[in-house]
Amino acid sequence: MTTVSVWWLRRDLRLHDNAAFYHALQSPYPTLPVFIFDTDILDKLENRADARVQFIHDTLTELQNALAVHGSSLKVYYGNTLNIWKKILTEYDVKAVFTNRDYEAYAITRDAKIAELLAAQNASFNTYKDHVIFEQNEVTKDDGKPYTVFTPYSRKWRARLTEADLASYENEKYFGNLLQISPLPIISLAEMGFERGEITIPSTEVAQSVIKNYEENRNFPALPNSTSRLGVHFRFGTISVREKARKAMLLSDTYVNELIWRDFYSQILWHFPHVIGAPFSPKYAHIAWRDAPADFERWCVGKTGYPLVDAGMRELNATGYMHNRVRMVVASFLTKHLLIDWQLGEAYFAAKLLDFDLASNNGGWQWAAGCGTDAAPYFRVFNPTAQQEKFDKSCQYIRKWIPEFGTPMYVNPMVEHKFARERCLETYKKGLERAAD
Ligand code: FAD
Repeated sequence: MTTVSVWWLRRDLRLHDNAAFYHALQSPYPTLPVFIFDTDILDKLENRADARVQFIHDTLTELQNALAVHGSSLKVYYGNTLNIWKKILTEYDVKAVFTNRDYEAYAITRDAKIAELLAAQNASFNTYKDHVIFEQNEVTKDDGKPYTVFTPYSRKWRARLTEADLASYENEKYFGNLLQISPLPIISLAEMGFERGEITIPSTEVAQSVIKNYEENRNFPALPNSTSRLGVHFRFGTISVREKARKAMLLSDTYVNELIWRDFYSQILWHFPHVIGAPFSPKYAHIAWRDAPADFERWCVGKTGYPLVDAGMRELNATGYMHNRVRMVVASFLTKHLLIDWQLGEAYFAAKLLDFDLASNNGGWQWAAGCGTDAAPYFRVFNPTAQQEKFDKSCQYIRKWIPEFGTPMYVNPMVEHKFARERCLETYKKGLERAAD
């Protein structure tokens, strides 16, 4: 059996500036890059043309081609992760495994099982920070407790940052330590029961001017380059967050702030895993959400009669993307105007967003519903019409996504704003009173 160190790729699909890959290449054994299509995750996806699966597959093919230039290959498996690791151990003499940390509860449990299996075979399991700039307990209050409010967290984050935190790993220097093998076949999408869809993935290339003008443009969804559209690449690690932050430092403080939000929600999920399935703040667990499947369906398909909400939902359904300002408006509308449980909206976004990330999505939804860490107070109810007048005054964005806008074909508002606002305030108030009893 060939003796190897394994670099296990997960949400870090790139060869450059990659912590785990770097450390694998430093080990005394040749490095075998391994990716596992995890059936426990794939089997839960409803859409057989899920663009994210296609994106992963395309990226693996690109990595495979890049590795071939260095005489090496990816080894791609498909199945239950623990079973696959048992198989790998029969195929190779694995001395060590190197992987980047994933802070989601599912991944933490899965990795613990793999570490145990490897330990029984005298193979080490080595994990690294790569997905974020600061993780876990790296940015805490002076007493060591986690921050639960963004602004003081961001101040500490900035105070703690040194050049070394953003330095790149120079993996290329050590590519000679890759296991020398001919390219191995990659399982096809069809073999996994998936097919190609229509959605395209935004580029990793972003003009400097987008970041430079980010502060003034970022709230206007009609502007073609108002934001970077890098979410999906941060999610799957096809770009390095260190590299992007280093560049952004010179161009836009506001953009850096967004990357800090990403770290913030990642550490919230790690410190407070109960946010999955429950409000961060337990006193909001007693809101009497409406059971209204028909209303939920109208929200999903973008037929609420509130143009900014409908444009956003239709953009999401068509492209897998929705502008941040609009995400806030549609999430607020679902939870406050329709009084539908934020977890239904969270799940819908999880199924549709290319950049779906458990930590940021949960953080965004809890913020909108008023029950999260940094939450907007529950009595601040966005007026979707005023939001549209402010951020899409010329109706360019809504016309793009709602062709029938301004014609009799466009639906009337499904709920009146003033009525919805009062119903929301009343319901939240009662929920909080129940919690206090
Ligand atoms: P840009 O504006 O160019 O920002 C650059 C990067 O910073 C983003 O790609 C993202 O990685 C990060 N970022 C920006 N804003 C936030 C934020 N508020 N919280 C955390 N990270 C941020 N972001 C996700 O990455 N995945 C999600 O599943 C997700 N779900 C959301 C759900 C709701 C209800 C809301 C209100 C926000 C959500 N966000 C999520 C945050 C934000 O909307 C997206 O990150 C952003 O719109 C992605 O577009 P972009 O890449 O052009 O971002």
